[in-house]
Amino acid sequence: EASAKVIDGKKVAKEIRDEIATEISKMKDAIGVVPGLAVILVGDRKDSATYVRNKKKACESVGINSYEVRLGEDSTEQEVIKHISCFNNDPSVHGILVQLPLPSHMNEQNVVDAVCIEKDVDGFNPLNSGRLAMRGIEPLFVPCTPKGCIELLRRYGVEIKGKRAVVLGRSNIVGRPAAALLDGEDATVTVVHSRTQNPEEITREADILIAAVGRPNMVRGSWIKPGAVVIDVGINAVEDAKNPRGYRLVGDVCYEEASKIASAITPVPGGVGPMTIAMLLSNTLVSAKRAHHFIHSS
Ligand code: NDP
Repeated sequence: EASAKVIDGKKVAKEIRDEIATEISKMKDAIGVVPGLAVILVGDRKDSATYVRNKKKACESVGINSYEVRLGEDSTEQEVIKHISCFNNDPSVHGILVQLPLPSHMNEQNVVDAVCIEKDVDGFNPLNSGRLAMRGIEPLFVPCTPKGCIELLRRYGVEIKGKRAVVLGRSNIVGRPAAALLDGEDATVTVVHSRTQNPEEITREADILIAAVGRPNMVRGSWIKPGAVVIDVGINAVEDAKNPRGYRLVGDVCYEEASKIASAITPVPGGVGPMTIAMLLSNTLVSAKRAHHFIHSS
């Protein structure tokens, strides 16, 4: 029975972190600059707190200074923006990340827009997303999750040019930028969303399939073209009495079925998740280099 190659995001992310750590120590030796990332966490969502903790840990592991601001659920949009302005003006901070989602009484876009584009390591400022959508113009930063997906394809030697790619989901943080990046790599891209009729007929055409819908196991084996490469962005908690936590994480793709049909597939966890954080570190390093006009050879 055919079995897909596992695209090991955890391993690749570790390789990337090692590369970043080396570059950071070179930059520190050469010009005495250490990259800094500021993280703003509002409210008390457990999953957000976990993401922030993991990001901070990852920063430490490569030698990036991390700064954290925690604000209560009842804080105001103005307070959050005040902290952002402060980091915008702080030369030791090269990247600013506002952990989403924000409490519902805030306008998320207003807050995201307050991050200056030079420090927008998430790539969510409309000036960066707009540039990503244009031909021949580069954004200062590309959103971490879709960038991580493309990096996995690249490091596993998957050719993108000329291939048919399908992206499931069209959010501003994953689906849309993923489609733009694949298009930029000369794939022919189709986007499937909640109003698409017969999505499985479209996904079956895909040489490369990126799933980012947030629906556990939605993509069945029968949705996949034999030999396709499948990147599963979904992180969904499903009940699991056998797990001590009472739940486990699964992707948007039914791994058991898909791994019999695809030629390569990312697991959940251990696929795109670790890559997202690695790309955040990479964007922060790039930002620090840019701020200090640091270009080193190698
Ligand atoms: P959103 O909820 O913002 O977007 C979901 C998208 O999927 C929407 O475009 C929606 O369509 C589409 N969709 C929903 N249901 C269906 C359906 N039945 N058929 C087809 N399309 C559908 O989610 P995100 O993009 O933020 O996240 C997607 C998933 O990726 C989540 O599981 C999230 O946890 C995970 N994620 C993982 C990250 C990582 O680091 N690995 C980082 C970020 C997210 P429509 O536009 O029509 O509503």
